[in-house]
Amino acid sequence: MEHPNAWSTYTDEQLAELGSFADDYIAFISENKTERECVATAIELARAKGYRSLEEVIESGVQLRPGDGVYASMRGKSLILARIGRRDLTQGVNILGAHVDNPRLDIKQNPLEEKGDLAYLDTHYYGGIKKYQWVTMPLAIHGVVAKKDGSVVRVVVGEDGADPVFVISDLLIHLAADQMEKNAAKVIEGEMLDVIVGHKPLRIEDGSDKKDLVKRQLLSLLEERYGIAEQDLLSAELEVVPAGPARDLGFDRSMILGYGHDDRSCAYPSLRALLALDEAPERTAITLLADKEEIGSVGATGMQSRFFENVMAELMALTGHGDGTLALRRCLVNSDMLSNDVSVGYDPSFASVFEPKNTAYLGHGLSFNKFTGARGKRGSNDADAEYVARVRACMDGHGVNWQTAEIGKVDQGGGGTIAYMLAKYGIRVIDCGVPVLSMHAPWEVCSKADLYEAYRGYQAFLTLV
Ligand code: MN
Ligand code: MN
Repeated sequence: MEHPNAWSTYTDEQLAELGSFADDYIAFISENKTERECVATAIELARAKGYRSLEEVIESGVQLRPGDGVYASMRGKSLILARIGRRDLTQGVNILGAHVDNPRLDIKQNPLEEKGDLAYLDTHYYGGIKKYQWVTMPLAIHGVVAKKDGSVVRVVVGEDGADPVFVISDLLIHLAADQMEKNAAKVIEGEMLDVIVGHKPLRIEDGSDKKDLVKRQLLSLLEERYGIAEQDLLSAELEVVPAGPARDLGFDRSMILGYGHDDRSCAYPSLRALLALDEAPERTAITLLADKEEIGSVGATGMQSRFFENVMAELMALTGHGDGTLALRRCLVNSDMLSNDVSVGYDPSFASVFEPKNTAYLGHGLSFNKFTGARGKRGSNDADAEYVARVRACMDGHGVNWQTAEIGKVDQGGGGTIAYMLAKYGIRVIDCGVPVLSMHAPWEVCSKADLYEAYRGYQAFLTLV
């Protein structure tokens, strides 16, 4: 079964829309590289469309009406947004779910170290990465430092053209005889991911303490610039990410080279598709932006938490269902969901890991994975055939370019998403997303056509009844 190349199907009008959507996306992922930044910007965009926070709605004492927009955030790292529909919630809702955390290097709680007159910040990597990919490239630091007085200092360094950047060094080839013999997992190991952040020693009076002058100089800079002391790093979340903006890729500008297409190439269209609803949809439409997907969806901000269930219970109460759980359970079991996460795109340079008939191709549209998992579908959500048929009909009915795929050959490996955590409520859910090359690398590749098809596909899905 051939799925056409989406590029060959577009009208001039669609190409213009595709181009402007891609520009918006490039700006979004260049500005928002962490889960906190994505959530903060999503809230800003939602408020501009009239959404109110759950707290504001509860405070107002007024019930939600069809057409109302509401959002709830967990710790500023995960977000649920809803546009209330005309139908009663017990008839089910349409959910677009994606994640906004990306593989990266987290700065340790006791990070600062001076070695050989260089100052380093020690890191602990987050998510699945090939560690050797993170050396000798410009890095930026994004995050927050929480102080004992309750204030939170926001840090972003390395993105503005005038900012300094940071780097992790690699061994020169001339001395790398032993290193080159190692396997790729051992070439750069976790404890070698130390980020160089300074080199200039503190100027001191003769006779005073000469120890750690580079580190002390750096600490005085941090104090001066951010008002933070070394102890404040104990309560910080600082994330080291590739520095600089996402860019058009290729002479024809058909692709995007960017950090964290996994999973913002699905999260951003999921957000935009919801915000594109100006009036009350038939069924309530929901977008979930989850944190911690890359490390197993754990914790209060990950999809395994009760956050989603609790917010849905609030929505039930605010739409006249009181605080009982039966109506909520009916709502969930009648709901439909797309679990929007990137898929692997066919890469001819590594053809041996793919099964060509069941692989997503760049430019061939939104990729549906009936199941994910590894080693005999282990860890997968397997969408039922009847639901796949409904989704097919919906996509075809809206002229969306789409394809189906598995993640590589059977027995080659695999992956998982947030899908199975929602499926346990009885929600019908299928994985779908944008095919990506070099997934989890500092710079990933996606096609503008697939990004656009995700946007179109997610909009189509929100019309499902
Ligand atoms: Mn993902
Ligand atoms: Mn991932």
